Amino acid sequence: MLFVVSTPIGNLKDITLRAIEVLKSVDLIAAEDTRHTAVLCREYGITAPLTSNFDHNEQGKAKHFLEQLKAGKNIALVSDAGTPGISDPGFRLIRLAHENGIPVTVIPGVCAAVAALTLSGLPSDEFVFKGFLPVKPGARRKRLQEVALAGGTVVFYESPHRIVKTLEDARELLGDPVLVVTRELTKKFEERLQGRASELVAHFTRHKPLGEFVLLISPTAVSIPSIK
Ligand code: SAM
Repeated sequence: MLFVVSTPIGNLKDITLRAIEVLKSVDLIAAEDTRHTAVLCREYGITAPLTSNFDHNEQGKAKHFLEQLKAGKNIALVSDAGTPGISDPGFRLIRLAHENGIPVTVIPGVCAAVAALTLSGLPSDEFVFKGFLPVKPGARRKRLQEVALAGGTVVFYESPHRIVKTLEDARELLGDPVLVVTRELTKKFEERLQGRASELVAHFTRHKPLGEFVLLISPTAVSIPSIK
């Protein structure tokens, strides 16, 4: 069986009892970066062999794991953070397993997008997850413009290097909307900021953006406290 196992996005305690149990029991853990997952394994006394799934030849790797699954091995798929397959390449192995009649199960847990939405205070009964914005300027702007068409809160992942650019594009293309920026969730410097795109640009001009970010845009948010 293939077990798709969510792992923490920062705080190592954010893992389920079932996830630990499964990681201890499998024949093999297919990880993104084995050094990263090794830290988690040390913390919980998990000794199953770790091997990298996500390298430059991921398709070749997926086929290798498929052979092992067909031979009756139990494999746990994990990524560096959160839920495998959500804006990381794990879905290919999951799809291949389904296509080949291998039983697949999920051990659900943390996902940065859902954690950010939960913390944001923005409407969460309807939301759209857009993953990472494209790197090329034209494609990025086009994707951002789609936000105007979304009914609910829109959630993006963003890198610290591009966050200011994205906020500037949102100011220009979306009429300076209200956004929530969450940073370093579950970690020491966890932060939530809310304001218009222009206010957040001003904030990150004064404070260098560091760490991991989730950006949320609410076309319907009305209360706009200024950022401290
Ligand atoms: N599979 C992961 C999940 O379930 O959330 C996401 C993997 S994606 C490659 C990594 C991105 O998730 C980061 O660039 C950042 O946007 C977001 N992320 C991961 N950990 C985070 C954290 N602790 N705080 C805020 N954002 C985080």
